Amino acid sequence: MFQVDVDKDKCTGDSECVNSCPAGVLELVDGKAEPVNIDECLGCETCVEVCPVGAITVTEV
Ligand code: SF4
Repeated sequence: MFQVDVDKDKCTGDSECVNSCPAGVLELVDGKAEPVNIDECLGCETCVEVCPVGAITVTEV
């Protein structure tokens, strides 16, 4: 199981993570990325890598 945290203060809503997540975990909600499908997370950290503002952290729980 993984936990995905989005720093809403940093997120610019560019959808890079939404578009690159292979598991469809993230969606844009009110202009900010939100992990809506967390059970599907693979822990690949693609979202962390593509985020230009470093708003996402992935932690194994
Ligand atoms: S770690 Fe991978 S599977 Fe999990 S939300 Fe990020 S891109 Fe998606």
